[in-house]
Amino acid sequence: MTSELLIQLTDIHKSYPMGSEVVNALVDVSLTVQKGDFIAVMGPSGSGKSTLMNIIGLLDRPDSGSYLLEDYEVGLLDDVKRSHFRNNMIGFIFQNFNLLPRSTTLRNVMLPLSYRSINDANKIAAAVESLESVGLGHRIDHLPTQLSGGERQRVAIARALVGNPSVILADEPTGNLDSKTGDEIIDILEQLVEQGQTLIMVTHDATIAKRAKRQLRTLDGRVTEE
Ligand code: ADP
Ligand code: MG
Repeated sequence: MTSELLIQLTDIHKSYPMGSEVVNALVDVSLTVQKGDFIAVMGPSGSGKSTLMNIIGLLDRPDSGSYLLEDYEVGLLDDVKRSHFRNNMIGFIFQNFNLLPRSTTLRNVMLPLSYRSINDANKIAAAVESLESVGLGHRIDHLPTQLSGGERQRVAIARALVGNPSVILADEPTGNLDSKTGDEIIDILEQLVEQGQTLIMVTHDATIAKRAKRQLRTLDGRVTEE
């Protein structure tokens, strides 16, 4: 099978001002990601993992360097264009699930489709299908508080998937779950990869990282591959 380039970061730098000092959060980072890759990112606290995810996820902008996503140079786009690409191409999964507490499962999953020109019936159908794909077709009217932690993260996975993103970014997706539930979540993510999805995941858990196809390490803003 020929691999297809999805992401190419070249010489990415990102620093943050800290009083009179500057924190170099990412230094000279170059990285390629192929379609269908499953990548784990590990590294100590403060080493640049979230900054890397925020830049790949188009939440933040590098100071310099190139970021090719599919065929688009997206690194230095303005905010409006960046959010357009983010909404259409990136799915996010967070440690704390980040669900809207007063919205039903269905409404939470429909959220990424808000800005799409699709009619409501099709948005609902897509959200239901996405929930069914993570085994939650029977929970569409529940509120997040009425769900277990594992179910909440499955809702978040359904939300990440619903817009058919080019890549899913998961920042410690099992960090708030017990190990058995965490394994079930990784099983679901692994199935997505088997179906062709591209996934980049931050984790502190070496056992979970080993289940990825590639392992990256961050240290002092630099990224190396094992
Ligand atoms: P990690 O996710 O590996 O813990 P981060 O990417 O969050 O690391 O942070 C990398 C470095 O950049 C840290 O030293 C952190 O303090 C700093 N940093 C991150 N975000 C900001 C910010 N918004 N303002 C100032 N410093 C930041
Ligand atoms: Mg972090």
